Amino acid sequence: MNLSFDNTEVAFAHKSNRDLKKAYRLFQTFNYPFLVNNGPKLANLALSLRLPIKGIIKNTLFAQFCGGESIEESYLSAKQLYENGIGAILDYSVEGEGTEEDFQLSYAELQKVILEAANKPEYPIAVFKCSAIANFKMLEECTEAIRSGEKVNLSENPEYKEFSMRMKSLCQLAYKNNVKLLVDAEETWIQDAIDEITYENMALYNTETAIVYNTIQLYRKGRIADMQQRIYTAREQGYKVAFKLVRGAYMEKEGQRSRDMGYDNPIQNSKQDTDDDYDAAIQLCFENRDVVSICAGTHNEKSSLMLAKLLENSSIEKNDDRFWFAQLYGMSDHISYNLAAAGYNIAKYLPYGPIREVLPYLSRRAQENSSVKGQAGRELSLIASELQRRKLNIYVSNDNRM
Ligand SMILES: Cc1cc2nc3c(=O)[nH]c(=O)nc-3n(C[C@H](O)[C@H](O)[C@H](O)COP(=O)(O)OP(=O)(O)OC[C@H]3O[C@@H](n4cnc5c(N)ncnc54)[C@H](O)[C@@H]3O)c2cc1C
Repeated sequence: MNLSFDNTEVAFAHKSNRDLKKAYRLFQTFNYPFLVNNGPKLANLALSLRLPIKGIIKNTLFAQFCGGESIEESYLSAKQLYENGIGAILDYSVEGEGTEEDFQLSYAELQKVILEAANKPEYPIAVFKCSAIANFKMLEECTEAIRSGEKVNLSENPEYKEFSMRMKSLCQLAYKNNVKLLVDAEETWIQDAIDEITYENMALYNTETAIVYNTIQLYRKGRIADMQQRIYTAREQGYKVAFKLVRGAYMEKEGQRSRDMGYDNPIQNSKQDTDDDYDAAIQLCFENRDVVSICAGTHNEKSSLMLAKLLENSSIEKNDDRFWFAQLYGMSDHISYNLAAAGYNIAKYLPYGPIREVLPYLSRRAQENSSVKGQAGRELSLIASELQRRKLNIYVSNDNRM
């Protein structure tokens, strides 16, 4: 197969020379720890003081990683992705204070996201986080109760009942409109409550096809055995089980909490163990594709290539609806655009929300891209290759050719 993630011509065909240079300069700034560590905090302060920096953020960090401040404003980015064979997953990235009012606002917004996906082909999938519609403490208490192994009736808890009602109505709305709905994975100490309710809804709404997807974090120990059990149950009970496969985003927090509280770190002993389990999870899902659907949420080239090859070497279509790839907007375009050009199902999370409220999200992207060895180095070298291929000089600023 001639799929290659090194093809920068395909990866950046959608970017004008000016946009490419802008992206290069932005990723370069992530190499300055002071800016990465303090930039978003300073930006927040400046916005509070009503200093005129909104335009600067909107044109740089925000433009790279977000679609817009609202669903409507994000449509242009979604359309541009769609023209290149890539779907968008509207990701309402406002991180509220955790009040009941915040939950109600998020719940209403998520209904809009699902209906938007129902009505526009640019949005093949929707997504949400349970902590956006439910109290974190309640999810933590329910997780403890589930783990204690005692028979507990979660629905006696009024906050859980409310959460359960919201969750069910979002899944039902997705089901009625035939929209795939991803439930993000979060910290392990709230995850059992999320799992419980997500699989409950899977059993209800995945009877014909995969609608509700639960997220599996393969940086956790023991996830393969858990998946095997879920697959067994789904087959027994006659529904489709759907997983979003990720490595996991809360590694430092997980380690810190386990040390503070004196329990075993739930995270794998090494990156290699995480990588091995991630690829084993892909293989497991592929082998059980009679009942399993997946969305591989990763920027890892090896894992993405592995799934692409499994499809390529089998008799099933590359764009079989049971297999999706996903990346974040503004990152790993070399994977997304090359997979799309080769005919695979691919979508990108498209975060949106008012600038000030998405600053924590932007701060995490800046942090994640700050290691020269890691993603930032990769993004920079790919952009540099494309600049070179187009014979452009980063220091010549008046080159606005398309
Ligand atoms: C579309 C999409 C959706 C996502 N949704 C979620 C979600 O719902 N929940 C969530 O938690 N994350 C989510 N993520 C983030 C994801 O979990 C990873 O943090 C991120 O994608 C980096 O992993 P990778 O597979 O892309 O690549 P890589 O760069 O190959 O892997 C980096 C990851 O490996 C793991 N790792 C690194 N060092 C070690 C170590 N020493 N020991 C063990 N493991 C290690 C960590 O998980 C780290 O993030 C999502 C990512 C994408 C692209």
